[in-house]
Amino acid sequence: VISIWTEDLIDTLKGLLAKGFSSSGIAAEIGTTRNAVCGKIHRLGLNGGDGSRTFVRRTPEEKEATKRAKMERRNERRRSQRVTVVRVRQVNLEALRCVEVIPQHKSLLELDADGCRFPYGDGPFTFCNHAQHEGSSYCGPHMALSRRRMS
Ligand SMILES: [Zn+2]
Repeated sequence: VISIWTEDLIDTLKGLLAKGFSSSGIAAEIGTTRNAVCGKIHRLGLNGGDGSRTFVRRTPEEKEATKRAKMERRNERRRSQRVTVVRVRQVNLEALRCVEVIPQHKSLLELDADGCRFPYGDGPFTFCNHAQHEGSSYCGPHMALSRRRMS
């Protein structure tokens, strides 16, 4: 048997393999059979390139297990995120009860149409932005505060 594999051809084979060609693709490129290419890849110890022979095939059970593990991790992440959100909200509510109102510190542009316009800081101002008390541009606590100030 005369080997078709010249140095040049082996280089070409390696090049095509590196580009991700399959053995049948390489066979078509260099004009030989897929079996010849597979055998050469094997003899050269160049694994990869041919999915059907050189890649480890995973059984459906293994794939299923991987998928389950992935879902489990995702659920785990979601659960921990949810817990964090709930905790933050509780803390805020408690703080609100203590000091009456916590300003949201919104800029004039971010301010809601019905947000409390009680200013904080000494320019650029930030605003409270809690829901306005009826007939006022301030929320309840800030309306009371501004009235106390005026009198
Ligand atoms: Zn306010």
